[in-house]
Amino acid sequence: MNASELKKIDRQYVAGTYARFDLALKSGTGASCCDYEGKTYIDFTSGIGVNSLGFCDNQWAAAVAGQASALNHISNLYYTEPGALLAKSLCETTGYQKVFFGNSGAEANEGAIKAARKYSFDKYGEGRSTILTLVNSFHGRTVTTLSATGQEHFHQFFFPFTGDFSYALANDIADVKAKLDSSVCAVMIELIQGEGGVVPLDEDFVKELAALCAEKDILLVADEVQTGAGRTGKFLASEWYGVRPDITTLAKGLGGGLPIGAVLLDEKAESVLGFGDHGSTFGANPICCAGANVVMEKISQPGFLAKVASRFEEVEAALSSCAEVSGITGKGMMIGIALKQKKSGEVAKACMENGLLVLTAKEKVRLLPPLTISDGEFEKGLSILAAVLNQ
Ligand SMILES: *Cc1c(COP(=O)(O)O)cnc(C)c1O
Repeated sequence: MNASELKKIDRQYVAGTYARFDLALKSGTGASCCDYEGKTYIDFTSGIGVNSLGFCDNQWAAAVAGQASALNHISNLYYTEPGALLAKSLCETTGYQKVFFGNSGAEANEGAIKAARKYSFDKYGEGRSTILTLVNSFHGRTVTTLSATGQEHFHQFFFPFTGDFSYALANDIADVKAKLDSSVCAVMIELIQGEGGVVPLDEDFVKELAALCAEKDILLVADEVQTGAGRTGKFLASEWYGVRPDITTLAKGLGGGLPIGAVLLDEKAESVLGFGDHGSTFGANPICCAGANVVMEKISQPGFLAKVASRFEEVEAALSSCAEVSGITGKGMMIGIALKQKKSGEVAKACMENGLLVLTAKEKVRLLPPLTISDGEFEKGLSILAAVLNQ
């Protein structure tokens, strides 16, 4: 099949929910991928923060293939090794007590919302079910996680939305205080708002928020679907802030390219979900978990996360003085570039023509390169981007 045949079939049969770039990709290794005409691209997207080890990492592919021919799936009615080992390494890495596995970020956030509401119901009964989230957040596409998302344009068409969500301004502790009434059982935050434009929360705000929540027995939930699993140069972004949320969700980068979501539960929430309270057919699928175990192993190698953290300074050094750049935000390998005149979509298109794939987030260019990208590929990608941003 050639690219135009592929595009034709896709346009005819796949639901039109995505505005795709005019590019069909066929294969990849490391941080480089190849289209149907044999043109190569440096990948600064990781499939939106998913391919943390890049394309088709050897050890990851071997673990996944090995598991696919040993035991592909059996359901949560039985014990399986990859899921148990993954839960153990997640808890040992983060200090959390228990893990619930699902398949996506939205599903992980649904699990967190259920756990938070159940915690409150068990202890205080009805009427304490509100979840406070932040304006400009993004928490997923299910009806409930759309409610959790603090952006008005996501609250259309699909009525009725799940009730009992309210929204406070990010980095405005007075607004949070005003909204923390007796109906609130949890506050859910992204430490760096991803889809909202790579907007980090202030450290003081997060610390005060954590203290307020602890004082009122309100659970703090960190949606680390994008920031987690090493993306910012710590395993969890909350480590940069010196806070320990009661619940943390992970997804995107955890599986290294296979669908997985995880809800990490701390002391308060570890046992609120009992038999039959929650579940997921594909949760802890052995193949996905086998891949995630390789991701965990590689991330925990000495120096790995420090290298990820240091990439941010490299980006600043390469791009800060470009004619089009008005600011750079983020942490580690989660990077937002604010522009002066150009539209982020135009920049992404120009980069693509020049052999570099980048993302956008609102009006910013967003970079989520594979965590394992080589120095050579990283420098080459940055030089393509710098040239586009100097035009
Ligand atoms: C991507 C994302 C989600 C949704 O994840 P899906 O796997 O698409 O359901 C939720 N929260 C944040 C912060 C995300 O970046």
